[in-house]
Amino acid sequence: MPAPRTRQHNVTAAQWAANGALGAPVLSESIDYYGENVFSPAVQKKYLSPETYARLQKAVAHGEGLDLDLANEVAAAMKAWALEKGATHYTHWFQPLTGLTAEKHDSFFDPQPDGTALTEFKGKELIQGEPDASSFPTGGIRATFEARGYTAWDPTSPAFIMENPNGALLCIPTAFVSWTGEALDQKIPLIRSMDALSRVAVRACRLLGVEADHVFTTVGPEQEYFLVDEQYFFERPDLVNTGRTLFGAKPPKGHELDDHYFGSIPERILAFMMEAERELQRLGIPVKTRHNEVAPNQYEIAPIFETSNVASDHQQLTMQILQNTARKYGLVCLLHEKPFAGVNGSGKHNNWSMGTDTGVNLLDPGDTPHENIVFLFFCAAVIQAVNKHQALLRASVANAGQDHRLGANEAPPAIISIFLGAELTKAFEAIETGRTEGASVKETLELGTPLLPVLPKHGGDRNRTSPFAFTGNKFEFRALGSSMSLSLPNTVLNTIAAEAIDDLASKLQARLDGGASLNEAVLEVVKASYAANKQVCFDGDGYSEEWHEEAERRGLYNLPATPDALPWLTHEQTVRAFESYNVLSARELEARQEVLTEQYVVKINIEAETAASIARTQIIPAVVRHLTELKAAGNETLIGESEELLKELVFAVQKLEEVNAVHDDDTIEQEARYMLETVIPAMNAVREVADKLERIVADDLWPLPKYWEMLFIK
Ligand code: ADP
Ligand code: MG
Repeated sequence: MPAPRTRQHNVTAAQWAANGALGAPVLSESIDYYGENVFSPAVQKKYLSPETYARLQKAVAHGEGLDLDLANEVAAAMKAWALEKGATHYTHWFQPLTGLTAEKHDSFFDPQPDGTALTEFKGKELIQGEPDASSFPTGGIRATFEARGYTAWDPTSPAFIMENPNGALLCIPTAFVSWTGEALDQKIPLIRSMDALSRVAVRACRLLGVEADHVFTTVGPEQEYFLVDEQYFFERPDLVNTGRTLFGAKPPKGHELDDHYFGSIPERILAFMMEAERELQRLGIPVKTRHNEVAPNQYEIAPIFETSNVASDHQQLTMQILQNTARKYGLVCLLHEKPFAGVNGSGKHNNWSMGTDTGVNLLDPGDTPHENIVFLFFCAAVIQAVNKHQALLRASVANAGQDHRLGANEAPPAIISIFLGAELTKAFEAIETGRTEGASVKETLELGTPLLPVLPKHGGDRNRTSPFAFTGNKFEFRALGSSMSLSLPNTVLNTIAAEAIDDLASKLQARLDGGASLNEAVLEVVKASYAANKQVCFDGDGYSEEWHEEAERRGLYNLPATPDALPWLTHEQTVRAFESYNVLSARELEARQEVLTEQYVVKINIEAETAASIARTQIIPAVVRHLTELKAAGNETLIGESEELLKELVFAVQKLEEVNAVHDDDTIEQEARYMLETVIPAMNAVREVADKLERIVADDLWPLPKYWEMLFIK
């Protein structure tokens, strides 16, 4: 007989409080530790000569490479700082196509012939590394071109220290490229897309009379996650191996009571949050808000927005710190998009905007008509971009976990549409029809041009069902999955926005050349673009059946599953946009599609194997034992019920094992389809019977922690 499981925390309140051992942070102190583990400009100033500091800042500001002399000086300063912080090793920290981060640690120590050792870290080790890259997925790029890849320092994202009880590690954010210059990572395309957007947006700004030498894209991500007690995590092979529960009957209480959202945060959870936040702040990550989410044991953390590449690096670190810190409190942080069936999944809201180096947020409606035309122009460009590349945006957030979430009654639908809000919609409609009586018009513009509506500073209404919503002075792309890197979705967003801004800027230029006034020209351009693209705008309930029908009538794409979406990464119009703005070549796009498709196949395959194994080695034996007891008691009704379900379960498991056997004669796309159409249904069939059995098998025999335990024990 298996030992009956205990329903207790494996860490007591006193233990985790002692583990945390933070002491209460006082406000004045919080300023001291902010950024203390970052090689920030303030630290650089301290460790570099004024001349070297100035040269480094200039190189960073202009995106120039560093010569070896400068690199040597910076490396020496970085080493001195890192050693003082207790670092023994350094690593080039990068983001391969897996969407995770990668690191290979090198020691600072260089053994000498006399038996001693010196510390060693030179400029060339700072600016370039050559990890043994052969095991990173490259989507065939390396096979076709060159065998090697190298990492190159990204000086725009500061180096930082990761601490461990037994030492510390200097992390140098790097890009990962092949020797032939192809991007093998997630960072390079993101930076290229930011450059592309900046170039075209600066041109548009000039036409619109906004002073700017550079336009930055900004991101503020809101991260959702679950916390479960560590003990339950380790008792669930499905959570350990796949990050989600493959079995589990719906608990008697779900989020029907709506009593968790914004509820008070339990003490152990809050202690965890405080430590995680402090660690993040020490890494210079500006975390700002925390709260309970809709589902039981679901939480959210959000920082203040930063430029896209820094926000993306910081997001990766946030996920890592959340996971590491949770363990100190006897908790496991689940970042999977759908850890529990029938319970809300987790997403990542990507708040996105564009701002000039002169401090203008180009998506802020502003207070005056002049700011207003700037806003209308850029907002129209975003609408045009999203409408044209709806399917690509869907592809940029596709993964196996997301397929349980997008389209379910909780997350934005798999159909990409834009929520503008009533007032903004009214403004665009007024511009389109040229009739502004209905709109709240205050200003009449010269030359008899249509009246320009005064735009709301804050769209009053909110709509949680929209995948892409205007929220006052930014757009919120809500379809990202909780486990995802920000890089690809933002690379896509920046690139398609660049294409649309470029297009509208050329049209604006043509009208200005034809003698139109600026206001006239902007309104004409906005009017035409909005009329052509407004089909993507929808303010209603994105979860409703009517919207699905309406969207189909409008010809919008509905791509429910990953294999439906990923081919859009290499669609002709995608390649054209990405090549025109030098973000990714056709080859680099193909590589990404291939890696993501492969990941989908591998993930489903692991899920199927895990499900079959749990069913065979844990659930079936439990049911058999249960039956033995029933037979001893001699209750025919109960025996009949269990025997029937056991038969069904055995049949379903055999079927799952059979269909999940290897199919390697197919292309990766065919395999993905096969997973979707054959393996997933077989896995669902096993679960369906198993979940019924969970409700009737004796509780002390059931081998897996139940949903109510994992979700309600805090
Ligand atoms: P809301 O409650 O409407 O979602 P918040 O003010 O809480 O808005 O902001 C949510 C996230 O959006 C935060 O991370 C915030 O920093 C970010 N954000 C605010 N302004 C911008 C901007 N201009 N660009 C990108 N992100 C922004
Ligand atoms: Mg928000």
